[in-house]
Amino acid sequence: MNIEQQITSLRNELREHNYNYYVLDNPTISDFDFDQKLKQLQELEKAHPEFYDANSPTLRVGGEVTKNFETVPHNFRMYSLENSYSKEDLEDWEKRIEKMVDGHVEFTCELKYDGASISLTYEDGRLKKAVTRGDGFQGDDVTANVKTIRSIPLQLKGDYPPLFDIRGEIVLPFEGFAKMNAERVELGEEPYRNPRNTASGSLKLQDSAEVAKRPLDCLLYNFQGERLPIKTQFESLEKARHWGFKVPDAAKLAKSLDEVLEFVNYWDVHRHELPYETDGVVVKVNNLQQQEELGYTAKSPRWAMAYKFKAEQVSTVLNQITYQVGRTGAITPVANLEPVELAGTIVKRASLHNADQIAKLDIREGDTVFVEKGGEIIPKIIGVDFTLRDPNSNPTEYITECPECGTELVRQEGEAQHYCPNFEGCPPQIIGRIQHFISRKAMDIEGLGGETVALLVNNGLINNYADLYLLKEEQIIPLERMAQKSAENIIKGIEASKQIPFDRVLFGLGIRYVGETVAKKLAKHYKTIDALRNASEEELVTVDEIGVRIAQSVVSFFTSEENIETVARLKSYGVQLEISAEKLASQTDTLSGSTFVVSGVFTKVTRNELKKLIEDNGGKVSSSISSKTNYVVAGENMGPSKKTKAEDLGVAIISEDDFLNMV
Ligand code: AMP
Ligand code: ZN
Repeated sequence: MNIEQQITSLRNELREHNYNYYVLDNPTISDFDFDQKLKQLQELEKAHPEFYDANSPTLRVGGEVTKNFETVPHNFRMYSLENSYSKEDLEDWEKRIEKMVDGHVEFTCELKYDGASISLTYEDGRLKKAVTRGDGFQGDDVTANVKTIRSIPLQLKGDYPPLFDIRGEIVLPFEGFAKMNAERVELGEEPYRNPRNTASGSLKLQDSAEVAKRPLDCLLYNFQGERLPIKTQFESLEKARHWGFKVPDAAKLAKSLDEVLEFVNYWDVHRHELPYETDGVVVKVNNLQQQEELGYTAKSPRWAMAYKFKAEQVSTVLNQITYQVGRTGAITPVANLEPVELAGTIVKRASLHNADQIAKLDIREGDTVFVEKGGEIIPKIIGVDFTLRDPNSNPTEYITECPECGTELVRQEGEAQHYCPNFEGCPPQIIGRIQHFISRKAMDIEGLGGETVALLVNNGLINNYADLYLLKEEQIIPLERMAQKSAENIIKGIEASKQIPFDRVLFGLGIRYVGETVAKKLAKHYKTIDALRNASEEELVTVDEIGVRIAQSVVSFFTSEENIETVARLKSYGVQLEISAEKLASQTDTLSGSTFVVSGVFTKVTRNELKKLIEDNGGKVSSSISSKTNYVVAGENMGPSKKTKAEDLGVAIISEDDFLNMV
């Protein structure tokens, strides 16, 4: 096999594995073997940029940054759906359309997925464009972001038509959503409210590498195109599956309205077993010929009808409001409920979010409250049954002191949450900070878990994360459920964490609002912890993507004597508090102040490497040419419109070699 054949064969193989894993949910290869093959392909592609393919499986990890999403017209208008809420609504609809087509109508029933709608254009089996719904006539081109969604095929299989659009819904399954939120809470940030908004927000992130990290999925349901080889809606779903798309197999053919109602009733109960959110059923006339006859109203097709499920709701007694203290000191009020069944699970607790929420709904202990399970994982209280309120009850007084340490709470202007300011002495904050420090994305200390941290703190062995580095095996062994071996592993894990690079240490310090990405940016910009510590708020905000909120938080972190001392101790123990010399050597300021646009295909380096070179040398990468652009690095096949634009604006167009000489 020559190189090109090797690359093609690896791409095909990886595509198939992606398909098995993400579409069929049936992997036939271990994650490890998959990663090995992916790495192999990445290396081959790197060494042979002449075989670049915009739809290679290696591009699933993203990397392209879009500053402004281009608005583009839809090839076919994206309509809304008419809603119905009862059996009678559906019966009326059936009568209406049977009269219009003068005959019997059969239906395809599908679930109505609750996410962000998307239109995908395929040309010769390759994904060309992905556009959001927008106003239905035009939407935003979010192709780079959508390409990172693993279940969307970049290359189709079988006897697909040469040109068509396919529509679907981008959803964020519950499990992934819960994981994302757990990480946000870890960071002291407010959790996202529901999967739908988070899914649509994800499509508009500027950095596609960030999108790639989100566990998005895409479920398809409709074709648009000229002379497609399809006669019915049901057949179109089967075809979509054959060509490589993910189409849930819940869809059913219904020969009569009774069968439609059966489908509706079944899923009204069983939808809670699905891994993603649904808010109803979509009933569609099955025969496409009939669909055409029925046509559209000003807003929606006459051949389809959404049937909306009622959000599930129960009422129960609120026994007590308790308050949790997070790692950052944020207080979260929690409603402790008389246990009640809701959407198939027993609910005992519900989030009350913050003081304003309690005041707004006038929620009191002893009230009978309505609890609803919408998109949120944790059910929420949507109101009080005032008819059942004890006339002698008093409005809830929000706590003024920390339930864990008794310190008076503070609430900053413009913030919804109350905080316990006893950073140094409040037990859940002390434990939470150390737990964050050792977590996987930070110091990743093997052998040490969250409960052990609590045990160590409660036994007075550690009081902050620097203390970890002074721990001795003999101190750990006598603790509850500890053995020689586990103590040894803890000490080994702590020792090994001294090799963790600076950006992850910085993330581990637990500075509020400094998440993984921000930590990377700051580490890259300041290079050492001392430089960061000396930066003023005014300086910090000049760093790309660092806003006032983050800047203030960094400055405030370093005003604490205790933090300064802890960091100094970490340094003295050998923890990485600056970028390693090796990494530093690959970074310069040569291109500082210059903005680059990269266009076309390159031969010596890949596009991503080129962008990395620009950034590592202090330059900025932008996705579109404007008067602020200093250079366009032009590869082969640079788009003619970009070229004209660059020439019109007098922006320098340089070759790959010119650029490489600059660095
Ligand atoms: P609405 O936004 O309430 O008008 O509902 C219309 C939207 O439902 C469409 O734009 C799609 O994004 C979405 N939808 C979800 N599942 C389906 C489905 N199976 N068939 C058609 N549309 C669907
Ligand atoms: Zn406290």
